Amino acid sequence: DIKSLKQVSDTIWEIPISYKEGMRVPARIYGTQKLIQEMDDAVYDQVTNVATLPGITQYALCMPDGHFGYGFPIGGVAAMDVENGGVISPGGIGFDINCGMRLVVTNLTYDEVKPYIKKVVDRLYERVPAGVGSTGFVKISRNEFRKVVEQGARWCVDNGYGWEEDLELMEENGCIAGADAAKISEKAIDRGFNQIGTLGSGNHYLEIQVAKKENIFEPELAAKLGITQPDQVVIMFHCGSRGFGHQVATDYLQVFLKVMESKYGIKILDRELACTPFDSPEGQAYFSAMKCGLNMSFANRQVILHRIREVFSEIFGRSAEDLGMHMVYDVAHNTAKLECHIVDGKERSLLVHRKGATRAFAPGMTGVPEKYQHIGQPVIIGGSMETGSYLLVGVPSGAQSFFSTAHGSGRTMSRTKARKTFRGEKLQKEMQTRGIYVRSTSMSGLAEEAGGAYKDVDEVIEAAELAGISKRVVRFTPIGNIKG
Ligand code: 5GP
Ligand code: MN
Ligand code: MN
Repeated sequence: DIKSLKQVSDTIWEIPISYKEGMRVPARIYGTQKLIQEMDDAVYDQVTNVATLPGITQYALCMPDGHFGYGFPIGGVAAMDVENGGVISPGGIGFDINCGMRLVVTNLTYDEVKPYIKKVVDRLYERVPAGVGSTGFVKISRNEFRKVVEQGARWCVDNGYGWEEDLELMEENGCIAGADAAKISEKAIDRGFNQIGTLGSGNHYLEIQVAKKENIFEPELAAKLGITQPDQVVIMFHCGSRGFGHQVATDYLQVFLKVMESKYGIKILDRELACTPFDSPEGQAYFSAMKCGLNMSFANRQVILHRIREVFSEIFGRSAEDLGMHMVYDVAHNTAKLECHIVDGKERSLLVHRKGATRAFAPGMTGVPEKYQHIGQPVIIGGSMETGSYLLVGVPSGAQSFFSTAHGSGRTMSRTKARKTFRGEKLQKEMQTRGIYVRSTSMSGLAEEAGGAYKDVDEVIEAAELAGISKRVVRFTPIGNIKG
């Protein structure tokens, strides 16, 4: 409980290595006192398990939106020293490889969109397929799909889905180098090749939002990010690599469980933390396969953006260019990436796992788009379909968390409990009276996603800001939503 934590600051809490046998580094959990008190007990257990993994450097971290996950907590960040036996672990990345968020602006205001909100949401609901197993309109062969997973969003732009400028505004420019389709199973290709341009199910969403005047906290930064007027309408969406990424994770978990102990002598506290040394053949194969998952997801979100532009253009009778539908940014929150960080004054090559955590690079860092070099990398964070969401930027003090921050508000309630607490139909009606038009493929799914099933997003963001791992720029209010 909270008393056994060492409080480092108002928003940083430490669990010492004496807490559990085998911990190589302390664990640190971010959050205000309230968030820490309400945090899932499983987070303590999971983040300290992560602290036992070979090569873990400095701390095993959990972001303020943390909650129970597969092996690692959601919100988990772990940097492994790959030059000294550091491991790669699928549980530290997640089954939905490169689940992430994309934000697009328009030059429309709430008043202009309000009369059309139903039409916009209904049309998007038709054009961006949602739900388990949904398939997309991009019809390509399995072989062409192999190109997609190696080329990511670049493939999309080359094939007419999107603008050249979009690529500059994505993490890794929408195409991570080193993806190798030869490391992918037939089954993964089968599950993925017809799913480009689909949202998926559960907490994946496509949301129309408004930047109210009082919620533009940093007008200058906001303007540089494309939020230039009060009541401006933006579109935020959240999805990942669909069945493809899931299959990649499943395939390699099986491989890892076979060789981890017998071949590499790695003992772990929880099977879900299966891992191998990063520089082993199995680790390298997974790393290349995982990158295909990253690229599939960048491509997926790129095609969805193309559909959104089409729909807005049809409904408002102007081209997407005319409607100013520029991307703000696209960022992953389920990845592991090789990065250079300074630890104890020395530059180290680290494999940074971020599972339900967002990279938040500071101004001036390599990897931040040219356009944002002076303001820092944009960070896109969902709250819930009922409450609100955020746009933030990375800050220099983010070095403490390997430049990582939260990715959402995080669940407070299991899906089962949420289904018992809320009713989908009732929720949908209530939301409509509050000015949020929501469509979903599943009413029980909608109940699972009620705002009340999530933590207070404002509190999470405040914790992240007070801790110095990211800075608030704008808070968005939902007006329309498609839930997977
Ligand atoms: P996850 O990546 O862990 O699946 O979820 C990301 C975050 O998105 C959740 O922690 C939650 O705060 C947020 N979220 C889930 N559904 C919605 C939604 O419909 N709208 C918005 N704005 N945020 C959501
Ligand atoms: Mn996901
Ligand atoms: Mn996600």
